Amino acid sequence: MPEAPRLDWHSPMPPGFAWPEGKRAAACFTFDVDAESPILFDHPESAGWLDVMSHQAYGPRTGVPRLLRVLDRQGIRATFFVPGYTAERWPEAIRAIRDAGHEIGHHGYLHEGAHSAPDAETEERLLRSGLEALDDVAGVRPVGYRAPMWELSYRLPALLARHGFLYDSGLMDADHPYRLATGPEEGASSLIELPVHWSLDDWEPYAYLPGITGSGVIASPSEVLERWTLELEALVAEGGLFMLTNHPFVSGRASRAVALETLMERARAIDGLWIAAADQIAAHVATLPLEPIIHRPHQPPETRRGPDG
Ligand SMILES: [Zn+2]
Repeated sequence: MPEAPRLDWHSPMPPGFAWPEGKRAAACFTFDVDAESPILFDHPESAGWLDVMSHQAYGPRTGVPRLLRVLDRQGIRATFFVPGYTAERWPEAIRAIRDAGHEIGHHGYLHEGAHSAPDAETEERLLRSGLEALDDVAGVRPVGYRAPMWELSYRLPALLARHGFLYDSGLMDADHPYRLATGPEEGASSLIELPVHWSLDDWEPYAYLPGITGSGVIASPSEVLERWTLELEALVAEGGLFMLTNHPFVSGRASRAVALETLMERARAIDGLWIAAADQIAAHVATLPLEPIIHRPHQPPETRRGPDG
């Protein structure tokens, strides 16, 4: 058996990777405008609960305008991933995001996690529904996709490529963007992957809806700011991508938005840090000579066994 290529562990930068001239790392501020969608998908009975729906409506009604003001003050262009249902329910909020110059990305239709939409036909139908809603409401054709709940099937990258997407933002195996092969075969098409992580998501420390999500332990914004600042500084030192995911119904709350704005100020003060929307980062990475990374489905030993074990 020929020896596999060696793992080069000396540099944190993957081979062929470079940020634009004069930049040594990047930060991307993203907002998943989930609003009611994920709760309606996971708990259809909640459609009749005004209290729960009002908690989610805070996002487009109050959080989005506040966050647009924050971004405007900071001069930062951000990416908003919007489920189709949210766009239809809250067209003014989505058009305001578009008109402020931010990027709008695809985020499912009713925030359907791929773990519960197992067949290819359903996946494609949901992708089309989301595209239609964003087009109808805002005349937007997104180049970026973020899977609801970051749940991705192995076949999704190929589906995204077929529908002309430039990038995905939902995988967790790297600190740098990379070229994502859509299949293991020679000459398979590819996308750009902008990796994420749960530790850089506001839902986990902040969100609480009794009986629906969260433990009831709600973190202090100062604690979250410290946590995110540590990761920002560490990723800058490694030349990586700081990809932050916030939700307007979560981080649009007053003191959380203040903490987020403080983080943006800290990021802006870092020399050589490129702060850009996801479409700008993906467009840059697409120009780099990167070997595509292939994700092969696992076959754990028990699934390989025959009926007799
Ligand atoms: Zn979401």
